[in-house]
Amino acid sequence: MIYLDYQATTPLAPEVEAAMAPWLGEKFANPHAPYTAGREAAATVEVARKQVMRALGKTSGRLAFTGSATEALNWALKGSVGREGRDEIVTIATEHAAVLDTVQFLGSTHKVHILPVDHEGIVDLDALRAAVGPRTALVAAMLVNNEIGVLQPVDEIASIAHEAGALMLCDAVQGLGRIAVPEQADLIAISAHKVHGPKAIGALWMADSVEPAPLIHGGGQELGLRSGTLSPALCAGFGAAASLIAERAPADHDHVESLWEMAHERMRDWTLNGSAAQRYHGNLNLRRDGLDAARLMSEVRGVAFSLGSACASGSGRPSHVLRALGLSDREARSSIRIGFGRYTTADELAEALDRIDTAAKAQ
Ligand code: PLP
Repeated sequence: MIYLDYQATTPLAPEVEAAMAPWLGEKFANPHAPYTAGREAAATVEVARKQVMRALGKTSGRLAFTGSATEALNWALKGSVGREGRDEIVTIATEHAAVLDTVQFLGSTHKVHILPVDHEGIVDLDALRAAVGPRTALVAAMLVNNEIGVLQPVDEIASIAHEAGALMLCDAVQGLGRIAVPEQADLIAISAHKVHGPKAIGALWMADSVEPAPLIHGGGQELGLRSGTLSPALCAGFGAAASLIAERAPADHDHVESLWEMAHERMRDWTLNGSAAQRYHGNLNLRRDGLDAARLMSEVRGVAFSLGSACASGSGRPSHVLRALGLSDREARSSIRIGFGRYTTADELAEALDRIDTAAKAQ
C-alpha cells in the first residue's frame, strides 16, 4: 500500500516503537505508585512531558497528558466557558469536529459565534473583531486545517482575543513540528499520532495562570486536573516522537517541500481547494470537475488517500470545510485529500498520483 493519508494519522516512527517497548513489557508498574518501579515509570512520564514541551517551544506553562486531542479540546472549551462570568465562545466554521461538536453541545446553554471563512478558507479578522467582546470567554482557532491544510492567522486571532480579555485556544494537532505554534495562545491541544507517535494520547498545554476546570474527575493524577492512570508506554512514545520533531524538523520540512513541488506540478490540471499561499505543503486537497471521488477511491486500489467530500463517519455528507469555502455539494464530492510526509518517497508519491490521475481521466 502507498500511504497518502498523513492528516488522518502518521506511521509510527521506529524510534517511538523502541521507546515504548519496555513499558509494554516488564516495566508495567503504575506511574502513580510509591515504590521504585512506580517512581521509575513516573520519571519516564516527566521526561516525556519535558520532551513534548520542548517540541512546542515552551519553557513556561504546564502540560497535561490526555487521552486524545479531542479530549484536550473538550476540556479547554468546557472548562473555560463561564470563567469570570464570560459565557460566549467564538470559533470558525472550518474547525475540526472536536471543536465544532463541543461548541454545538455548549450552544444550548451558552452563546456561540461560528465565523465563516472566505473562498480560500481564511477567517475575516474584522468579523472576528466584531464577534469578540467583553462576554467572550474563549476564541478557538486551528493552526493548520486537517482537510485543506490552510493556515489561520493565529497570532492575530490571539491578539484580538486578548484585547477583549478572552483566552485563545489553538488546535495545533496538524501543525505541531511543522508550523510554529502561536506564542500568545493560552491553551494548545496536540495529538501524538499526527507526529509519528502512538494513538490515544494527546496533551493540553496551559499558559501560567490559565486553568480550565477539570473535565474528568477522580484520583487527580495529572496536575490535580485530569484524573486517570497514565500509560507510561504512550507517554514515552509521545516523548520520543516529540524529540524526533526537534531533531528532524528541518529535514522533514525540506522533504515535504520537494514532494509538494513535484505533486503540485504533476497534478496541475486539478484545482487546489483552499489557499495556495497560506497552507501546509504536506496536504494536497484537489478537485476535478465531474469527478466521482468515491468511485475513484474504489478504482485506485493499493493507494490510501481520502475523500475531501465525505465526513469520517461515512455518512456521505459533504465536508463542512469544503462547503464553508463556498464549494457546491457536487464540487465537494469531486474532491480528494492527499497527505504525505516523513516516510513518503518521491517515487511512490509519483506512482500513486499517476494512478489517481489516469483513473480520474478515464471516468
Ligand atoms: N484536531 C485536528 C485538526 C485533527 O486533525 C484531529 C484528528 O483528526 C483532532 C483534532 C483530534 O485528534 P485525536 O485523534 O487525538 O482526538
